[in-house]
Amino acid sequence: MIQGDVSLAFELRLRAEGSPALVPRISLLFCILSAMKISETPLSPATATDELPALKTNLKTLSRAQLSDFCRERGLKRFRADQLFQWMYQKDVRDFHEMTNLPKTLRDELTETALVGTIDPASQQRSADGTIKFLFRLADGHKVEAVLIPDFEDDGSAKRLTVCVSSQVGCVFGCSFCATGKMGLLRNLSPGEIVDQVVKINTVSEETYGKGITNIVYMGMGEPLHNYSAVTESAAIICDEKSLGLSPKRITVSTVGLTKQIQKLADEQQPFRLAISLHAASDEKRDKIMPINSSLNLKALKDAVQYYHQKTEMPVTYEYLLFDQFNDTAEDAKRLARISKWAPSKINIIMYNNVAGVELLRAREERLDAFMRALRDQHVRATVRRSRGDDIDAGCGQLAIREGAPKGKTIRKD
Ligand code: SF4
Repeated sequence: MIQGDVSLAFELRLRAEGSPALVPRISLLFCILSAMKISETPLSPATATDELPALKTNLKTLSRAQLSDFCRERGLKRFRADQLFQWMYQKDVRDFHEMTNLPKTLRDELTETALVGTIDPASQQRSADGTIKFLFRLADGHKVEAVLIPDFEDDGSAKRLTVCVSSQVGCVFGCSFCATGKMGLLRNLSPGEIVDQVVKINTVSEETYGKGITNIVYMGMGEPLHNYSAVTESAAIICDEKSLGLSPKRITVSTVGLTKQIQKLADEQQPFRLAISLHAASDEKRDKIMPINSSLNLKALKDAVQYYHQKTEMPVTYEYLLFDQFNDTAEDAKRLARISKWAPSKINIIMYNNVAGVELLRAREERLDAFMRALRDQHVRATVRRSRGDDIDAGCGQLAIREGAPKGKTIRKD
């Protein structure tokens, strides 16, 4: 059971940190989830149904299989589920009366019994470098951010258009460099809420850059594998030919290193790419900036990565934010080189966008150069990723809803 290890880890962590008062609450939460067999769903996504008559089913909260069940239970032919799916996710239609290939009687019936709870961007901010940050307001009033990151050809046309999506409102893992982590976890997003970010941004991408999105990274607000089923379901919807039809190879899901969920990805042969948010190459340093490491350390991560590669034969990517005089020494480069050999991999060295209130700072250019030289000397495949959208707080680690945001659950030490 996935929950077992994580809940135990949390409990040990909370006791170790002198916060025993939180232990019963966290333990109870995990017990309930274990009983419900919803291993990765600590807080249920609220949906548009929260504000509407209880008998209406929000079709955007259903998986593809559940949508088929919904139709079968109403005596509808299988292809009706396909038609509904296509209207919702490919044509972005929410009014059943506009679904013109459905019989009028069915449209009337669906209007009475169901709804399509779509989310829309409440605002957009555009960076000088072309990056666009979107604020989405959810049906229950919570907000999440997502980002469109364009890469351009020499002639100025868009080459690659990457969407960075959020999977949770806030995050429980409390990494010290991350603005989202400071919010705590408020709730999970549903598959529909994740897909909607992509669908809406795809429309803006077509309007702004003349072509739809080409890549998706689950690296926005939240720890994707902590909302496992909604994330994998949303990725499946995005790849469906009756939706956006994106290749799974163009989707990357990141994790701080939730080992059981990494193994689950492997067991289920999930076809998208895996990225590990590493950010430090020793337990000593990782413990300081990523609380999860004290319970799921580098040895546990190594075992999970090797299991993943053995089962899927896919490489992994390590994301490594370079912090000035913290993880940018020659010794760090040596350790990182050793980690890169756990399984076929590549490393993205990311130049951090400084976050207000965080002591860690972006590494200086001369230290970056020396670090990259040290990696090259050890034959490591590494690329530098430059910050994008930092003038609108859209960079790695910067996404957060600050204004009046309530504090959610966290394992962070303050
Ligand atoms: S880096 Fe990721 S896992 Fe860590 S607090 Fe931020 S969103 Fe959560």
